[in-house]
Amino acid sequence: MNACLLLPEAFALSYSTVSGNTVEFGLMGNTPFGTCPLCQKASSKLHSYYQRKVGDLPISGKTVKLYISTRKFFCHEDSCPRKVFSERFGSWLRPWQRRLERSGEQIQAIGLQLRE
Ligand SMILES: [Zn+2]
Repeated sequence: MNACLLLPEAFALSYSTVSGNTVEFGLMGNTPFGTCPLCQKASSKLHSYYQRKVGDLPISGKTVKLYISTRKFFCHEDSCPRKVFSERFGSWLRPWQRRLERSGEQIQAIGLQLRE
């Protein structure tokens, strides 16, 4: 399986494993910098990492779990009140989401069909 073909372009693949009924992907952002959500300035000055566990659509009936190494960057804009920010992944994954947007869209479509 070519995992790169299955993943949104916002991510770079670190690893993939298949165990039982689960496929796990280790991912990270594919840009060398982050953009501050307040002042929109780019920064490559790394503060730290944290891991987000995110769901995605199943593959061949297997549950998909994404482990995303998410970077925090310093914002160096003096007028910006945000000194540290987490990298964003565009519309693929909002900061509060626990599953990729495409997974949520599919669940919503199933729910709407069940109402009919
Ligand atoms: Zn900023």
